[in-house]
This record gives sequence, structure tokens and C-alpha cells, in this order.
Amino acid sequence: MRAQRTVEHVTTETLVDYFGHRLPEHEEANVEKHIADCDECTALARRVRRVSHAMSKWTAKVHSSAKRRTGG
Ligand SMILES: [Zn+2]
Repeated sequence: MRAQRTVEHVTTETLVDYFGHRLPEHEEANVEKHIADCDECTALARRVRRVSHAMSKWTAKVHSSAKRRTGG
């Protein structure tokens, strides 16, 4: 029998919440700990961070253009 750790990888959804600061403190700590240990999730976290950053810019853009269209 192999000594295999049951490691739950961090999901994309969790990472989105993590970068959006929507996770409870203990979960945030878990994510940080896992990322530090896991190359796969480090790579995933980098991607999600870029996407979530781009997404917040995008929503800001949509909101400002929607403002201009009001009236008429
Ligand atoms: Zn992982």
C-alpha cells in the first residue's frame, strides 16, 4: 500500500475568490499554503490572477460606457 496523501487541489473558482479577497481567513491561509507546495496550482494561480485583474478592468470599462449611453 502506497503512502499517498489526499491533496485537494485548489480550484479556479477558489482562486478567483482568493484574488478577489472573498475567502474567509482560514481558507485564504489554506490556499496560500497549498500554492506554496504545489507547482501545478502555482501556475494556475498566476493565470487566474491575470484573468481576474483583466476582468476587473473590463467591468470598469463596461460601467463607464453604460453611463454615457443613458439619456435620450
Ligand atoms: Zn495543487
